[in-house]
Amino acid sequence: MPFRLGSLKPVRSAFRLRTVKHVQHLVIGAGAAGSAAAYQLARRGQEVMLIEQFSLGHDKGSSFGPSRIFRLAYPEPDYAGLAQAALASWQLLERASGQPLYWRTGGLDLGPAGTPSLEEVYSSLSALGAAPERLGHRALSRRFPQWRLPPDWEAVYSPEAGIVSPQLTLRVLAELARSHGAQILEGVVALEIEPGQRPAVNTSAGTITCDHLIVAAGAWLPRLVPELASLLSVTLAASSFYRPTDSAPFQPQNFPVFITHDEFQAYGFPAFGVPEVKVGVDVLRPVTSGDGRSFEVPEQVAQASDTFMRRFLPQIGEATARSTCLITRAPGGDFVIAAHPACEQITLASPCSGHGFKFTPLLGELLAAQALGERHPWQLPRFALPAQAT
Ligand SMILES: Cc1cc2nc3c(=O)[nH]c(=O)nc-3n(C[C@H](O)[C@H](O)[C@H](O)COP(=O)(O)OP(=O)(O)OC[C@H]3O[C@@H](n4cnc5c(N)ncnc54)[C@H](O)[C@@H]3O)c2cc1C
Repeated sequence: MPFRLGSLKPVRSAFRLRTVKHVQHLVIGAGAAGSAAAYQLARRGQEVMLIEQFSLGHDKGSSFGPSRIFRLAYPEPDYAGLAQAALASWQLLERASGQPLYWRTGGLDLGPAGTPSLEEVYSSLSALGAAPERLGHRALSRRFPQWRLPPDWEAVYSPEAGIVSPQLTLRVLAELARSHGAQILEGVVALEIEPGQRPAVNTSAGTITCDHLIVAAGAWLPRLVPELASLLSVTLAASSFYRPTDSAPFQPQNFPVFITHDEFQAYGFPAFGVPEVKVGVDVLRPVTSGDGRSFEVPEQVAQASDTFMRRFLPQIGEATARSTCLITRAPGGDFVIAAHPACEQITLASPCSGHGFKFTPLLGELLAAQALGERHPWQLPRFALPAQAT
């Protein structure tokens, strides 16, 4: 028998449906966005089910590993404001969990003096009242002697920058969501979504219907929601881990997170959560997909990362490990947080573009508001679906 729900069309898939369960809120994907949304909905007394195709904390998507950069420096004032608001949300989450989740290390934006993007960092932080400091080459060498930089380089130091941790945050969000009654099912794959008054999701464990559905499927969003396929691109990114012989200068209190404004577009972390300094370089963006991806670090990326380290942080030795991660990008590096073009009862969430983790707790609040039909002050117009997808 084909599955029917009120006036909905029959579910298109051919497989046999085993169970039909109904929940108030169904969330697909226990990455940063889905976990934060599930927690916020559960905290607000809603019935929530969160399904994840792999196990919690897995390393096949975007939200894993010891560290992500938190920073306020955005040239776009609305993102800068969003980051400031996110800081308050991190503090709320820390209070709710009784655990630190944001570590202030300070941040260095480094590059040749006068680089326009470096100037933008300085002016955006100044506009926020975030007390940025300009460090010329001499001041930089005195304060952060770990760096060996060309004489024409300078830095913008931002005191508010620091580290947030996917592995810790996701664990905390799952624990808190469960403590508020959310059901979290691991190893359950959403196979197909049927929009409607009560959206239905065919999963590997049967069909689940809901009053509201949040699809926070990261790199698998284009497959689950074909309307987004032409909008989102999925690329492979890599991190390399370098173990310093003398670890003291690279501890979080001595070595700020950093971003370089040069041909490497490098970003990195002190030895936080692991004994190594973690570094990424944005020199190549191989297009891939959630299922079709490789776990191999492209040779060109590994080489660029090693060259960067030898040139600028030469006292650290060879790479001891590398890992890959998926970045799902929306046009302009924006996020998508919007109703499904054919169904108000479905919220699509793609807040990645390589910089979304810092907003996690705030995005949870925002997604919960969307699911409850409320307007949230940080639901930015830029998160809407562009015309091509509607
Ligand atoms: C290398 C790298 C560096 C980054 N650096 C930073 C940084 O410094 N600062 C920062 O703020 N952000 C950074 N980001 C971005 C940040 O990590 C992402 O914004 C965030 O992790 C995205 O989370 P998500 O929930 O959207 O996706 P994901 O974490 O991928 O979650 C999606 C989940 O949905 C599940 N799923 C998918 N399809 C299905 C299905 N059909 N059924 C059931 N479950 C499904 C997946 O298994 C996955 O668990 C970085 C990202 C990468 C990859």
